[in-house]
Amino acid sequence: MAVETAAYTEQTEIQRDITEMVRQFVDEQIIPNAERYDHEDSFPEPIVEQMKELGLFGVTIPEEYGGMGLDLTTYAMIVEELSRGWISISGVVNTHFIGSYLLMKFGTAEQKEYFLPKMATGEIRAAFSLSEPEVGSDVQGIKASAKKGEDGKWELNGQKMWVTNGLGSGVVFVLMKTDPKADPPYKGMTCFITEKEPWAEENSGEYEGLVIPPKIKKMGYKGVESTELVYDGYRCPPERVLGGEEAGVGQGFVQMMDALEVGRVNVAARGVGIAQRALELALRYSQERKTFGKPIAQHQAIQFKLADMATKIEAARLLTRKAARMKDAGERSDLEAGMAKLLASEIGKECVEESFRIHGGYGYSKEYEIERLYRDAPLLLIGEGTSEIQRMVIGKKLLQRHKI
Ligand SMILES: Cc1cc2nc3c(=O)[nH]c(=O)nc-3n(C[C@H](O)[C@H](O)[C@H](O)COP(=O)(O)OP(=O)(O)OC[C@H]3O[C@@H](n4cnc5c(N)ncnc54)[C@H](O)[C@@H]3O)c2cc1C
Repeated sequence: MAVETAAYTEQTEIQRDITEMVRQFVDEQIIPNAERYDHEDSFPEPIVEQMKELGLFGVTIPEEYGGMGLDLTTYAMIVEELSRGWISISGVVNTHFIGSYLLMKFGTAEQKEYFLPKMATGEIRAAFSLSEPEVGSDVQGIKASAKKGEDGKWELNGQKMWVTNGLGSGVVFVLMKTDPKADPPYKGMTCFITEKEPWAEENSGEYEGLVIPPKIKKMGYKGVESTELVYDGYRCPPERVLGGEEAGVGQGFVQMMDALEVGRVNVAARGVGIAQRALELALRYSQERKTFGKPIAQHQAIQFKLADMATKIEAARLLTRKAARMKDAGERSDLEAGMAKLLASEIGKECVEESFRIHGGYGYSKEYEIERLYRDAPLLLIGEGTSEIQRMVIGKKLLQRHKI
């Protein structure tokens, strides 16, 4: 007897429409121009301007603040498409998305009303800053600190590292130590919403005390800048403590770890996107290139590579969407987000390497797109927590869920 089941749909109509729109934008505007911006290591301003027009800075921001009000799952689909074009472009929106998540979840009404409309249009972009020169994985070890002055303002001091969008952003969500004696240390940390002048290396006036040294030179992930931030007597008003002073002081670590959970889904989507592009390039090249009298795609060893790549990408995509859907449904998804980030970033790198091998010597030439992907993919193994850290998160959660 036949059982009636709902038709299988991977995407809703809105999701289909929006991902098709973004895919077209990527094919027409990003892929043809990425090579130039990558070689120059210059910020892709015209592309970013078009992204503003398409509303891509406000995908998850509620409509009442001028955004699209879409969920994490749809956002992950968009990020996959953007990353298929160039992961630096998804980097321009990634920390911005995390900043808007922090505001939506923890911000006061005033903070939401002040920042979200400007963020939804892309008028200002957000950066997210935890890491320091001596601290990445072990966030509780940060040294940068904030102290409340007699005038009620907080004075921020310390050096931050690896801040994506560090120069071009207009606002940085930064984690500072506010109680050096707190035990455990995470209870003495606070997230400050620090405004700054976009693209200014030295801030002045009300933003004085924040200096941005020259951007860090990187092997890949070009175009979007990664910088240090030097807070040296930066004065932050009390209403710029995330969530307000009463609710926010001492909550910074918990707030930022919460944001990293959605950030991990976002990085997973980037892994799927870069892997998908690597597969597309491999599929094309392997049908064009001939060895031993036939296209290399007709050699079984090459077909097996293509088959493994496609299978792994589909698995990573499904896991990423599952983590996003669970979060959208209001369920705890720290385990799934960790798994998705781990699997998709590793598969991203694996697929890029396999596609590189399929390209033979040409993969090593800057004339071929895979060369850029080969330099870009490893970042995903590091950002938002390394693979080792994801395994630690997954292991810990597994034991919590299955305690005997
Ligand atoms: C291009 C780029 C952009 C970035 N953007 C941002 C940003 O916008 N904001 C921000 O705050 N940070 C950002 N980061 C920083 C990034 O989050 C850190 O680099 C990352 O968390 C790892 O920290 P680390 O580099 O200090 O490595 P470490 O923490 O020093 O780790 C070194 C190695 O040891 C391993 N390791 C560490 N602890 C353990 C353990 N307990 N068990 C097993 N292995 C362990 C790690 O997995 C890694 O392999 C960015 C980094 C890069 C490269």
